Amino acid sequence: MIIKSVELETVCGITSKLPDTDKPEVAFAGKSNVGKSSLINGLMNRKALARTSAQPGKTQTINYYNINNCMYLVDLPGYGYAKITLREKEKWGKMIENYLHASRQLRAVFLLIDIRHEPSDNDRQMYDWIVYQGFEPIIIATKSDKISSRQLPNHIKMIQEGLNLKSGTPLFPYSALTKQGKEEIWEFMDELLGF
Ligand code: GDP
Repeated sequence: MIIKSVELETVCGITSKLPDTDKPEVAFAGKSNVGKSSLINGLMNRKALARTSAQPGKTQTINYYNINNCMYLVDLPGYGYAKITLREKEKWGKMIENYLHASRQLRAVFLLIDIRHEPSDNDRQMYDWIVYQGFEPIIIATKSDKISSRQLPNHIKMIQEGLNLKSGTPLFPYSALTKQGKEEIWEFMDELLGF
């Protein structure tokens, strides 16, 4: 995909109705601080359109980025931030679940996992929700610059085993610093959406 235009078109809060879009959507989920904003900015060739912050847990909205007027990248709220109340956590969970259930245009869900760490209980729950809603999650292992290429196979295995991935599940290491993985992710999305 050659990015010609990018626009943050819709921001949905907890109580907003989700937009009835007429273009295919791909969604990105992951725990706070996993590098989701950095990935989305990287994919869109923007420095800071999606928020990146040192203060995790801030994004409580579902953000729709219109790409080239032909598709949406949908940024789901980051989960698993420790310093929020259980009530808030439940609201976020409902919001994500509702989106996965209700979006008619959703074609694929990317689940981001920090390449350094074993998937958490929240990650596994998110994976299961995605599968339960009928999607086959695509894994992006973020911050790949933080490990050496020698360590890579072991870390990939740790994620595959930690999430109990079905064999053949696509997994892309990605680095926001080097942009490793960016081309592969776009190629995959282009193919998926028939571009
Ligand atoms: P989000 O909360 O998931 O949106 O995460 P952010 O994109 O805001 O990133 C959280 C922190 O991790 C920030 O300090 C980023 O600079 C850093 N970060 C994100 N992606 C990468 C990456 O690929 N490599 C490195 N080294 N740091 C990253």
